[in-house]
Amino acid sequence: PPDVEQLGRATWTFLHTTAAYYPDKPTVYQRAQMLSLLRALPTLYPCSHCATHLGQEMKTSPPDVSGRVALSRWLCQQHNLVNERLGKDQFDCAKTDERWKDGPSD
Ligand code: FAD
Repeated sequence: PPDVEQLGRATWTFLHTTAAYYPDKPTVYQRAQMLSLLRALPTLYPCSHCATHLGQEMKTSPPDVSGRVALSRWLCQQHNLVNERLGKDQFDCAKTDERWKDGPSD
């Protein structure tokens, strides 16, 4: 089976980076494609208990694909739910661009 930690780090990198570069004003097509990508994860993500948890969380809080800022925030919140479950520190969602797009300002 895959290494759940390594898979997680790689997947979060992909998802947060993709959200960070998602358009501010996505087209209808871009929104639909993003929704498809995220909705596929509970079915396809190769860590079954992770996938089950994600599917449950996505029912409570559906992805907000309306734009870059909202999507980045939604993903940050989802990641924080996992962090909480695993006893990891919460991440400050005001810092997603700094972490995943712009880099530190100084
Ligand atoms: P990660 O949590 O992988 O984070 C990588 C980097 O992202 C951090 O170093 C930090 O810079 C940044 N970051 C942290 N939090 C946030 C945030 N909220 N927003 C933006 N950036 C942030 N593992 C399990 O054991 N059980 C599970 O049920 C489980 N479910 C998962 C579900 C999904 C959808 C994914 C993608 C992963 C899941 N994982 C799960 C893996 C887990 O989340 C971690 O990826 C793994 O434990 C490695 O953790 P890490 O401490 O290296 O950092």
